Amino acid sequence: MFDKILIANRGEIALRVLRACKELGISTVAVHSTADADAMHVRLADESVCIGPPPSKDSYLNVPALLAACEITGADAVHPGYGFLSENARFAEILADHNLHFIGPKAEHIRLMGDKIEAKKTARRLGIPVVPGSDGAVSPDDDAMAIAREIGFPVLVKAAAGGGGRGMKVAHSADDLKLALSTASNEAKSAFGDASVYLEKYLQKPRHIEIQVLGDGRGGAIHLGERDCSLQRRHQKVWEEGPSPVLTAEARARIGGICAKAMQDMKYLGVGTIEFLFEDGEFYFIEMNTRIQVEHPVTEMITDIDLVLEQIRIAAGGELSATQDQIAIIGHAIECRVNAENPQTFRPSPGRISQYHPPGGLGVRIDSAVYQGYVIPPYYDSLVGKLIVHGKTRAECLMRLRRALDEMVVEGIETTLPLFRALVREPAIIDGDYHIHWLEQYLAGQPPG
Ligand code: ADP
Repeated sequence: MFDKILIANRGEIALRVLRACKELGISTVAVHSTADADAMHVRLADESVCIGPPPSKDSYLNVPALLAACEITGADAVHPGYGFLSENARFAEILADHNLHFIGPKAEHIRLMGDKIEAKKTARRLGIPVVPGSDGAVSPDDDAMAIAREIGFPVLVKAAAGGGGRGMKVAHSADDLKLALSTASNEAKSAFGDASVYLEKYLQKPRHIEIQVLGDGRGGAIHLGERDCSLQRRHQKVWEEGPSPVLTAEARARIGGICAKAMQDMKYLGVGTIEFLFEDGEFYFIEMNTRIQVEHPVTEMITDIDLVLEQIRIAAGGELSATQDQIAIIGHAIECRVNAENPQTFRPSPGRISQYHPPGGLGVRIDSAVYQGYVIPPYYDSLVGKLIVHGKTRAECLMRLRRALDEMVVEGIETTLPLFRALVREPAIIDGDYHIHWLEQYLAGQPPG
């Protein structure tokens, strides 16, 4: 097992990793920018190192500074959290070159899944059903139009290097295609430094359902069921739940089995998420994330498996702590991402939290790094915290979520709490009857169809 882990992240996920390290009796090193000197992860870690000024590129993405911090503190492993360097294959390799362990998948798998075109090809080869689309990158001049006609409009133009919903444009007809190709391609070039784009059939009312997987790197792999992340705004998840209100135990076992088998074949190491769109009873692979996800607590609550603890144990060469038949789905969990944003315009609202009262009681979990008096800096994401609620049934979970949301107090800044208080009372949400475009239609004041 590792002696000392450096956590190359901030905010709630740094705290989340810290908690797992404490339980395992591993010493912790926090790193922080000058803007985060008072942050909770810095206060709770055994040691801390300032790695640069506020902009991420100068601090949390500053590889030489992170290596120096490992050297100074004698850390033997690095946990990257999510975002920042978590899906950077080069970073994993650089750590290995310095005899440091990267707590995450093998670099080759991070690289493979980071290129969505390659990821889709791999998925197809491993027997995972994929969204119909172009086999590889398309160019506006030659093949794009023919391929789009073959797939059938509407089509979605997507960036091979995409992430965070960027570099994605819908073309409803042949007339739209040229513009969609150039916009997506330009956006991809400036956001990711790679202009290649590909085409996919644009699904009209799918749900976003993702399977959590866990592999030991030697051919052992299991799945931990699904999370339904269909409530999104601008392709960003807002509310996640598990199990999905629309999936039967048979469908879960079938798709979960396909995913686990694929991970066994790849000899995948660590945690991963295989994302699908689900429409008319069919699954369509869209991408795989090779890191711990923001919404991982949903799975933890319904399986009672500590995913971060598993990540650390597996990275240190340990066995998976459960076999597939030991995994049972217990009850229902919902996560709300409470952001420091105006609940109507979603304009970020950084600043001082003057009053803070997190809800509690049976089945209520808060993953957050804020406290009363904390100042949310303007440089990073606007997450205040994740409210995760568990119940024996979905109805009990919603009942608890309703009262937990009413109990939660965050003042001094604007938050998305009012949106969640409205959503949890919305008949379609109560019925679990929603799809990936539902929330945007609801927010636009259109009756969601
Ligand atoms: P990113 O990596 O940028 O998050 P994803 O491929 O994971 O991109 O897609 C993000 C979201 O975009 C999905 O959850 C879904 O809402 C939407 N989306 C992606 N592909 C399609 C598609 N073929 N049809 C309809 N919506 C899609």
